[in-house]
Amino acid sequence: MPHIPALHDAYQAQARIKPLIWQTPVIASPVLAEKTGAAQIHLKLECLQKTGSFKVRGAANKILSLSGEERKKGVITFSTGNHGKAVAYVAGQAGLKSVVCLSEHVAAYRVAMIKALGAEVSLKGHSQDEAEKNYQLLMASRGLVPVVPFDDPKIIAGQGTIALEILSKLPDTDVLVIQLSGGGLLAGMAMVAKSINPRIHVVGLSLEQSPAMLESLKAGRPVQVPEKDSLADSLLGGIGFDNQYTLPMVEKFADEHLLISENEIKDGMFHIFDKHRLIVEGGAAVGIAALLNQKINVKGKKVVALLSGSTINADEYIRIIQGRLPRGAKQ
Ligand SMILES: *Cc1c(COP(=O)(O)O)cnc(C)c1O
Repeated sequence: MPHIPALHDAYQAQARIKPLIWQTPVIASPVLAEKTGAAQIHLKLECLQKTGSFKVRGAANKILSLSGEERKKGVITFSTGNHGKAVAYVAGQAGLKSVVCLSEHVAAYRVAMIKALGAEVSLKGHSQDEAEKNYQLLMASRGLVPVVPFDDPKIIAGQGTIALEILSKLPDTDVLVIQLSGGGLLAGMAMVAKSINPRIHVVGLSLEQSPAMLESLKAGRPVQVPEKDSLADSLLGGIGFDNQYTLPMVEKFADEHLLISENEIKDGMFHIFDKHRLIVEGGAAVGIAALLNQKINVKGKKVVALLSGSTINADEYIRIIQGRLPRGAKQ
């Protein structure tokens, strides 16, 4: 196994990224606690984070760690969503050039958000794979420095700072409920939590639609799963065939894995709107979905669930919420 990031790396990341991020609030959810029999349930609000998701933490830790030589070259990434926004934002703040490669099918609102943050957008190809090919070509021809979305020690340590913030406020946390896609988030948070208190129970939530990490854990190597659309688009995608860090770290640090369905995601989004007046994207709501549906045994436990982001188109959001209103489905 290559050198995996450790607690110390997360503390260094915390100091490094402080000027670029918010320390987001943690709020109590008495309704969910009552429903599940938990002693306490808290929600960590990374949906209020700069750029609309926690991804700014990893991107900031990576970009602010580059050498002077690398900074002059500028950075490049490919991402349809929150990682692309985070890289564009951090590069802009740090005075670096950034290029984000997207396929021609990416929703116009996402292209606009990334451009508005100051990145150069390169639109090419009809799939995520073709966008990745364009990224490889541009990286080589223009000498840009890659900033990958999850499989990088600096990205993982950056995401780990979320757990540092949670445990500084709630040091007797028993259970952490964390989204799982490429695994940078869970690897970082779980590594930090287990280093501080090995008894913390870490639950990872994957999509029924695209459980790439779970299939890879079963196979013992990175595997690709057929990709279907999901309301939780931030959780789609593979883990990379050359995965070095997140697969072994998730294997080591996650205690329990659950799959979440599309209907459960809608329930979770509605609950967060209805009980907390917060707008979150589908991928952020999976922890609430699992708790609401009593999929995790939290009786008597102190639980923290992460609301990971809020990047969603207004039309789509309103449709989902309206469909969950008592008579909204008929409209
Ligand atoms: C990227 C992302 C995740 C998953 O993070 P990974 O590091 O890919 O596992 C979860 N929620 C949101 C909102 C994201 O943008």
